[in-house]
Amino acid sequence: MLDARDETAPLVQVKNLKMYFPIYSGLLRRHSGDVKAVDDVSFHIMPGETLGLVGESGCGKSTVGRAVLRLYEPTAGSVRIDGEDIPTLTPEALRRKRPTMQMVFQDPQASLNPRMTVADIIGEPLDEHTTLSRDEKLARIYELMDQVGLNRAFANRYPYAFSGGQRQRIGIARALALNPKFIVCDEPIAALDVSIQAQVVNLLEELQDRLGLTYLFISHDLSMVRHIADRVAVMYLGQIAEISPRDALYAQPLHPYAEALLSAVPEPDPSGAQQQRIILKGDVPSPANPPKGCNFCTRCPKVMDICREVEPKLQEAAPGRQVACHLINPL
Ligand code: SF4
Repeated sequence: MLDARDETAPLVQVKNLKMYFPIYSGLLRRHSGDVKAVDDVSFHIMPGETLGLVGESGCGKSTVGRAVLRLYEPTAGSVRIDGEDIPTLTPEALRRKRPTMQMVFQDPQASLNPRMTVADIIGEPLDEHTTLSRDEKLARIYELMDQVGLNRAFANRYPYAFSGGQRQRIGIARALALNPKFIVCDEPIAALDVSIQAQVVNLLEELQDRLGLTYLFISHDLSMVRHIADRVAVMYLGQIAEISPRDALYAQPLHPYAEALLSAVPEPDPSGAQQQRIILKGDVPSPANPPKGCNFCTRCPKVMDICREVEPKLQEAAPGRQVACHLINPL
């Protein structure tokens, strides 16, 4: 359940987040540039809300998730989660904050220690952050296994004995162990068989309703994001092109990149009409050397002269919608 905090204020507020990875070259390994994986990204997430973060692979969306939770040290920007600025917390304050913000990873196989039993994996955060007795800890582990639909009888088995979907349930149980408020779901279904992807997404939705969780749901699967997200942020080359409420975005994307991305999503149309798929030409430029002006100008079907000179700012284009494009008149 949500606690008594101000429900009209964002739980997560990200402002001007940058995550640059330095490039060193030459014999002396001089700093010769930066890979601008995340370049001035701002968004908020309300309590109990799911913000979808979409874009092609390499656009920086997973890096945003990691920088928000300070699994990477951000280069610049602020990330306030429940009132605390994560990048400036001391190591001890960050350790105390960790239980409230968790991550569910893409590859459950790689994120679970193969030498630990399920009970040990789920119970590890309890060892680190609580003083529960052995019996209390076991009771909590069983409760978590129930919550994610894992049979308690399998508590002493090892991860290899489980299917991909069950392993992801173990990862989710572990993320829930310390009653987090905010979870970054980083491509949580990408490594799973299509037949069980919907089960895991439904589980995440059920848990959100039951526990009042707030999600940043990172995915390249636009159909799944449409199912789970309340609002969606579309990323291109380290920046946000558009943030809109889900239904408005899928009905009429405003940014040319969002339009192209969504044109590839199969749309069941009762009239039988086929939507026009927009094929983008060229490759995504390197984040080490993004184009001048709008970062989409090398591929945009609607590019204008100004786009190659002036970078468009993310501005409010309609109520609740923000778009970074010179074609859009701000409100
Ligand atoms: Fe296309 Fe120009 Fe808009 Fe960028 S600013 S998306 S290049 S029209």
